[in-house]
Formats: sequence, structure tokens, C-alpha cells
Amino acid sequence: MMTSTHLHFLTSVGVKKPNSIRNKDVMCPFCARELLTDIIDTDGPIMLLKNKYPVLQRSFQTVLIETDDCDAELSNYSNEHLYRLFQFAFNHWIKMEESGKYESVLLFKNHGPLSGGSIAHSHMQIIGLEDVDYTIDIKTEDFIGLEIDSSGGTEFTLSTLPKIGFYEFNVKLGERNEMETFARYVQTAAHYILTNFPFHCNSYNLFFYKLGEERYAKIVPRFVTSPLYIGFSIPQIPDNLEWMKEDIKKHYFTNTEHIHT
Ligand SMILES: [Zn+2]
Repeated sequence: MMTSTHLHFLTSVGVKKPNSIRNKDVMCPFCARELLTDIIDTDGPIMLLKNKYPVLQRSFQTVLIETDDCDAELSNYSNEHLYRLFQFAFNHWIKMEESGKYESVLLFKNHGPLSGGSIAHSHMQIIGLEDVDYTIDIKTEDFIGLEIDSSGGTEFTLSTLPKIGFYEFNVKLGERNEMETFARYVQTAAHYILTNFPFHCNSYNLFFYKLGEERYAKIVPRFVTSPLYIGFSIPQIPDNLEWMKEDIKKHYFTNTEHIHT
């Protein structure tokens, strides 16, 4: 099978997609649970189903509804719900990878108006690509950075070589039994972006990657993309990464008993 570099988008399907982010009058399709069809699996309020608007050719598109609460957001989930969600998402992601039907399998999430998403209700997507391998343009350097925290083999860093530019948060999963730490680091990055970030930000993307034997997450606050990246593919590195690393530690990882200054 020929590996392809581009995905083909079906515009006739795209125009039918509802947009509850742009248009607040659109009824939330993920709240009308009794109307949902093609359900693949559920775990309590978490549900995986076939995407009703499969805009990508030669792919299997699914939607993972994270919660039955339309206003809930990953950055605020209880630990119990967060772990349950990550376990469910990873199980299905790996199951699709191991089916052998796809060149690669995407797992990602969009949040907010600048994220590229169309439905506000918290959800992820798992997409099997029949002839595109997403790992071709991904390098281990994309996940190195200043360490914010680590536990066992699981590491939370702020990119020093961001893929697109400015601020990118990385989480590397150590052992499989460190999933709870991994999930907590991802949630911390999302929470920092939405509530304690030095610039107003209401949007982020969360991407998951399998590179060799390692699994990673990248959390990216979204703003209008820099023209230097769009036109010339030059990522930019801000000069306050050291400050931001300390700021996140101060907000989320400081044991107050150890503060002496
Ligand atoms: Zn909803």
C-alpha cells in the first residue's frame, strides 16, 4: 500500500456538520443521547461512537464523548473521572492500532473557538488512517523541554524545541501503570492554559502520539498561528520559558512546607 502525505477532505459532508461553537442556537448533538447511533462502547457517562460526519476519505472516524455534562471540561474533571476517561481512550486507541487495519491511528482533542473544533461538548476523536502515517513528521526532539515535574518514568515538560512555536507542553508516559500521573500532567497543562496562563487563552489542542515504543501527549494553547510558521515553517521560541516553568511549579507542584522565601 502506498503511504500518502495528504488526507482528502469531503466538502459535501463538511457542509452538513453542525457547529455549536460558532452557533449557540445549535442543539448539542452529544446531549441528545437517545438519538445517538452507531455506538461502539460505553463506560458510564463516557461513550465511543462512529462519527456521523466522516469528512476524511480512507479513514475510520470515531468520536469519544467524555462526559454527560455539556459544560464540564477536562481541566476540571475529578481524578476518578479523569483516570476512567484516559483508560477508556487509551484502550480504544491501542485496540484500533492493533487491529492492523490502519497505517496509523490519531487520538486528539480540540477545546475552544480557536482549536478547530465544531462541537463545544467535551469530546476526543480517534481516527484510523488507511494510508497516512502521522509519525513521519514527528521526532523525539518535539517532546524535549524544561522539566516541570516527573514521577517514575513519566515526565511533564515545556518544549524548548516547539513544533509550531511559542508554548507547547509535553507529557511522556513511563510505564503503563503510570497512566494516572500521565493523565494528571495533561490535566494540569490544560488547567494552566485556561486559568493561569499569562496571556488570555480559551482554546487548546491535546494530541497523543506513539513513537517507537513510547507514548506522548502534547498540549498546545491556541492563538492565531504565526505567519512565520504558516509561510516559512519557522517555529519561534519565546524567551520566558524558564519563568513559565517556575510559574507552573509554583501553581501546581509546590509543597508549601518547603517554601523558605
Ligand atoms: Zn452537550
